[in-house]
Amino acid sequence: MKTINDFDFKGKKALVRVDFNVPQSADLKVTDTTRIEAVKPTVEKILNDGGSVILMTHLGRPKGKPSEEFSLKNIVPAIEEILGKPVKFCADCIGDEAAQMSADLKEGEILLLENLRFYNEEEAGDVDFAEKLSKYADAYVNDAFGTAHREHASTAVIAQFFPQTKFFGLLMAKELEAIEKVLGSGEKPVTAILGGSKVSSKITIIENMLPAVDNLIIGGGMAFTFIRALGGNIGKSLLEEDKMSLALEILSKAKAMNVKIYLPVDTVIADEFSNDAARSEADIYDIPDEWMGMDVGNRTRTLFHDVIMNSRTILWNGPVGVFEMPNFSAGTEALGDSIAEATRLGAFSLVGGGDSVAFVKQFGYDDKVSYVSTGGGAMLESLEGKQLPGVKAINN
Ligand code: AMP
Repeated sequence: MKTINDFDFKGKKALVRVDFNVPQSADLKVTDTTRIEAVKPTVEKILNDGGSVILMTHLGRPKGKPSEEFSLKNIVPAIEEILGKPVKFCADCIGDEAAQMSADLKEGEILLLENLRFYNEEEAGDVDFAEKLSKYADAYVNDAFGTAHREHASTAVIAQFFPQTKFFGLLMAKELEAIEKVLGSGEKPVTAILGGSKVSSKITIIENMLPAVDNLIIGGGMAFTFIRALGGNIGKSLLEEDKMSLALEILSKAKAMNVKIYLPVDTVIADEFSNDAARSEADIYDIPDEWMGMDVGNRTRTLFHDVIMNSRTILWNGPVGVFEMPNFSAGTEALGDSIAEATRLGAFSLVGGGDSVAFVKQFGYDDKVSYVSTGGGAMLESLEGKQLPGVKAINN
């Protein structure tokens, strides 16, 4: 993996693709700066070498037209505060002004280009557009893991104009190393915990991970399709009837590959899909007709805990219950506690994919696990075994 640590940026201009697609308040202030903080090490390394940094990113979905709402001008103060340096801003990412401001950039300075998606060419992966951007700098750095699964002009196409000077940023490198660990190079036993609502959205991940893991824990809504397929009564719990045979197939594949699959053994049930519903507990195979499974039960929490405590490498994707409702979040919190405890004792744990980050943040597990991925979709696609265009473009 060629990272910025393999290059001395002294006197060089680096065009750094970042993912500053940050959430904003109604008055356009940045409400969560995680994505900006995440690229600070990359920017600092280049500046400390004596180089200069040209930042480029998209923000929102401006559909190929400039707009106040999606202007990066609004996020300059947040970037300056986090990087601790002034940031120059160019109000158009293409054109004479951008070329001039890039050319004038001195050692240790930072320039931010306006939203790339003000041009349709960005998402279309237009080669001329990519070439125009490439002229501003001596080196290209991709540190935008959140968009690495997109083959856009600035995330992938542009790399061809820097055959010798294209690099992964430090955030990208960290993300790729974390994936690598859970997909094979990590210490064994490796355990993947997959939760969430549907089997259909996780099927490719399960199939891709089977050869890499020793244990697979399946929780959340998707577990009920397995339990039903195994002959259980699941009441009104979430079911994907057309995925039942696939569920059985997965179970036999896992057996053939010596992967242990752990399904819930009991569940917290509700008489309707609401936080205020009546609650009870049931064996996972014996849910009363009018009730539905909303969270994992106590015996399941202990079962999952024991597996996790015996693991050295852990991937967590998806909640094991309806964690948005406080009455059904305890199972997901217990799981988070188990993973935090295993991590404290030396296991490597990665949380990521989809909106897994939402619940680790909500429950404060983000600094109790080894790594929280910054890219939902990109992480999911990596776990599915897909080669990300942004990664391929640097490696080629
Ligand atoms: P996903 O986006 O597939 O990772 O799914 C996340 C969603 O799964 C969350 O919104 C949870 O509320 C939901 N979920 C987890 N467990 C259950 C369950 N037992 N029944 C219904 N939905 C669930």
